Amino acid sequence: MSVDRHASTSAKGRTARLAAQLKRAQRDLAIERERARMLREDLEQAMADLAATYAAVDAAQVDPNVITDLAGRKVRPLAVNELDLEDYFRQVEHNYQSYANPFHHYEQLVDMLEAHSKVSLVPCYELANRMRSNDVRVALRHDIDADPVTAVRMARTLARRGICGSFFLLHTAIYYGRFFGTLFVRHRELPRWVEQMLVAGCELGIHNDALGAHGQLGVDGTAVLAGEINWLRSQGADVRGTAGHNSAPVYHAENSEVFANRVLWPTDDPIRSRLPLGVLDEAALGLSYEATFAMPREDTSGANAFADDQDSAELRNPDWMRRYLCDNPCCAWDVDMQVWVVGLDHWVAGGRCRGQAYFRDRLTLSDLRSVIDDLDAGTRCLFVLHPEYFRA
Ligand SMILES: [Zn+2]
Repeated sequence: MSVDRHASTSAKGRTARLAAQLKRAQRDLAIERERARMLREDLEQAMADLAATYAAVDAAQVDPNVITDLAGRKVRPLAVNELDLEDYFRQVEHNYQSYANPFHHYEQLVDMLEAHSKVSLVPCYELANRMRSNDVRVALRHDIDADPVTAVRMARTLARRGICGSFFLLHTAIYYGRFFGTLFVRHRELPRWVEQMLVAGCELGIHNDALGAHGQLGVDGTAVLAGEINWLRSQGADVRGTAGHNSAPVYHAENSEVFANRVLWPTDDPIRSRLPLGVLDEAALGLSYEATFAMPREDTSGANAFADDQDSAELRNPDWMRRYLCDNPCCAWDVDMQVWVVGLDHWVAGGRCRGQAYFRDRLTLSDLRSVIDDLDAGTRCLFVLHPEYFRA
C-alpha cells in the first residue's frame, strides 16, 4: 500500500513540475515573440533611415565614395564604436600632436591676464555689451572643436580662480553625437561633460555648424542647431549665444549667417543662394548675441573672392590671417582685438588699435602681455582658444 501511495504522490509531483515548466515556457515564448516584434520594428526604422540617407545624398549630389572634412579636404575615413570614443581620441591625439601646447600654458595665460592691472576678464555675453569701461575687457572663448575632456579641465581651472569663461560645444563633432539617417544620437558622455562645465560656472553655448550639418550630413542644419540649443537648455545651461564654427572659405558663408539679422554679403550667387542663410530668428530662439562678433561691413565687393580662396585660408598663414583679422572682406568685427592660439607656442594677435590695423604673428606665450600693454582703456579683446591646442 505504502509503495502505491508513494507512486501516486510522485506522479502528482511530476505533473505539477511539468505544469510549472509549461507555464515558464509559455512565458518565455511570449517574451521572445515581443522581442522579435521589437527587432522587426527596429529593422524597419533602420531601413527607413538608410533610405532617407540615400535620398539626402542624392539630393545633395554628394559622391558617397569621397569623404571630406569640414574644410572640404579628403580625409582617411574614421570608424568608431558608438559607445567607445577611444579610437576617436587617438585620432585627435594624432591630428593635433604637432600643435598642442602643454596644459600649463593655458594656466600661465590665465595667470598673466588675471594679474594684469589693465584687464577685466568677462564672459563673451558681457563682451557683447558696448558699455564704457576703464579696463581692457578680455573674454576667453573656447571653441570645442574636438576635445571636450581638455575643455572640462579648462573650465575647472577657471572655476578655481572665480573666472567665467565661455565654452561652445560643436554639435557636428563626433564627440557630441552622430546622425543615423535622420536620427541623431548624442554621445552618452555628453550630458556628463555639460554638467561638469556647468558646475564650473562657465558660460555654455553651441559652436554653430548649421551649414556643416546642412551640406555634409544632408539634414536641415538650422533645425538641428535650434534643437541643440534647446537640448543644452534642458540640461540646465543658460544659452545666450552661439559661436560660428569655421570661416567663410569653408562654406562660402559664415555659420553665423543662418540668423536673419546676421547675413554679411549678398546671397544671390549660385552657391550662397542654395544655403539656408538668414532663416533663423535669433531673438525668437532666446539668443542675445553671437560670439564670433562678425558683423556686416559696408563694402562687400571682395567677399566672394576671399571666400573662394580656400587654398590660402589657413590659421598659420600670416598673410591670410592678417586679412581675416584686420581687413576681412566678408565682415567687420564687433570687437577691437582678437588673439588666437594657432600652434605650439604660436599665437597671433590682430584687429584695430587707435584707429590703425594691428597685427602680430609668431607671438609666444610670454609676448602676450605686451599685446595687452598696447591696448587702450575701453578696448574689447577676444581670446579664441581651441582646447585641442592645450592637450599635451
Ligand atoms: Zn570651430
